Amino acid sequence: MSDFAQSVKQQADIVKVIESYIRLRSAGAQRFKGLCPFHKEKTPSFNVNGGSQQFYYCFGCHESGDVFTFVGKIENVGFPEAVRVVAQKCGIPLPKREFSSPEEAAEARLRGKLLDLHETAATWFEEQLRGPEGALAREYLAGRGLSEEGIKKFGIGYGPDSYNALRDKLSGMADQETLRASGLFSSKEQGDGSQGPIYDRFRKRVVFPIRNESGRVIAFTARTLETGDKAGAKYVNSPETPLYTKGQVLFNLDKAKPAIRALEFALLVEGQMDCISVFLAGIQNVIATSGTAFTEQQVAILKRHTSQVIVNFDPDSAGANAAEKSIALLTEEGFAIKIVTLDGGLDPDRFVRERGVEAYKEALRAARRQADYLIERARQLFPGGNPEQKQKAMNFLLPHIRRMPEALARDQFAADAAQKLGIGSAVLREELRQAALRRRDRVEVKPASLTEVERVLLRALANPDVEGAYGQHLAAKALTDHPAWFESLASFPAMQVLAMREARDPMEVVDDPAQKALLAQALLAEGRPPEDKEVEGAVQELQERVIEARLRDLRTQIADAERRTDDGALAALTQQKLELDRELRQMQSRKTH
Ligand SMILES: [Zn+2]
Repeated sequence: MSDFAQSVKQQADIVKVIESYIRLRSAGAQRFKGLCPFHKEKTPSFNVNGGSQQFYYCFGCHESGDVFTFVGKIENVGFPEAVRVVAQKCGIPLPKREFSSPEEAAEARLRGKLLDLHETAATWFEEQLRGPEGALAREYLAGRGLSEEGIKKFGIGYGPDSYNALRDKLSGMADQETLRASGLFSSKEQGDGSQGPIYDRFRKRVVFPIRNESGRVIAFTARTLETGDKAGAKYVNSPETPLYTKGQVLFNLDKAKPAIRALEFALLVEGQMDCISVFLAGIQNVIATSGTAFTEQQVAILKRHTSQVIVNFDPDSAGANAAEKSIALLTEEGFAIKIVTLDGGLDPDRFVRERGVEAYKEALRAARRQADYLIERARQLFPGGNPEQKQKAMNFLLPHIRRMPEALARDQFAADAAQKLGIGSAVLREELRQAALRRRDRVEVKPASLTEVERVLLRALANPDVEGAYGQHLAAKALTDHPAWFESLASFPAMQVLAMREARDPMEVVDDPAQKALLAQALLAEGRPPEDKEVEGAVQELQERVIEARLRDLRTQIADAERRTDDGALAALTQQKLELDRELRQMQSRKTH
């Protein structure tokens, strides 16, 4: 290790350096813990020892090392570059650069040069916006409610209507090839396949700088001010360059990072304008996906700072598909996701301008958990509540549920869905639950088959010899008093019709041949009507199932109240659960005695 590296290592605090990449919590004297950035995990096993020790170790993937190992690995750079990064973070002046190979030296030189070019270009775009040519752009920005202070904060500028103004400005700083590599210019392919001379890429456009996590400008995105045929693409972006890889940057993360850490969640919007508008209104933990679907790298970057997001994408936009993909990826990575839908189909930018930031904060507070949001969508897509629609709704939800990495979360989601979709049938609930736990994509509801309880009740109801008898009366009463008990039989109308005494011959009320066969089987298999005791037993079993279903609902609601830390609701629900537990126990003890 060079003297310089040695001296950087002595001055750097590994805790501070690592903390600039991931969230750490104190875990004792000079010891800190966080989620490991090098392997996927939900509970922190990544340890950092400060003080005199200055090393990190992960109990999950056994990654370990000193401050340079960490930076080298997370930034994906070699040792000399890692030393430089750490030195910069700690404010230690850099000596003349030393590189391990000429290629490395050349690459570092190019990157440094490109950063300089971007910085100069950004300042120049800002000057153009303030100058006489920028009038139209200023008007546009004012129309979008941006103050001068906001424009300055985000370094928004203007690329004038010229093919060579920026090129002339920068040509003294770098040779043609470097300028070409910067992505700030375009060129046309020549007849012989080579590239022609370069010209300004961002013309007659409002220019927004894109910054890396350390706040350095590495690319631009530019919105046209032309209308009609001449407009071209609404947005033109920098191409990929040695500085900028599209799927690896989250817009505004440099500014949003402290607030994301402090508030422990990130607000995710689609467009840069949404992001800027919301940030300037005072909600500072906002970042933008820039209209495209999230990449794994972006999710990994975000995961270093938080594992909770509120998503506020445009309603029914062309990007709905991208939004869905982003949410799917975040779910797979174990993020807790809430979803905001804004009134009036407004995007965040317009909502904040038209309704004010307080209304927007209110909408954020009312954000729904992803599960609730999806269940609500399932209900809207498949209304009506008959068994077929319910099955469709379940099959809409299952692909979403299966993405959740944790079995417990899937189980919870399935229980919520069963309750909110009104799936009363224990059989269907269990189907859904198993499908969720085993990460299946759909449930197959088997053709109706009769349970023992149903057989007994059918026989009691259908046997004309026992009219007025106690057993038949009991079965009919159960069916008419508690229709909800028989939801599992909803596909079996004979039960209901019989209970209403509207038909004498059960075979008459069944059209479906498969059900006719089942019914005939039930009635013919046992010639005699069931004894009173059998009917009593069947009704009681039904009651028990109903209580068990209600207990399951209560458990879901209790877990929900715990999450919301709603103590009032929690006490009431727990009380109800105790009473039902007691009722069930009494019922079961009567049976055994
Ligand atoms: Zn690890």
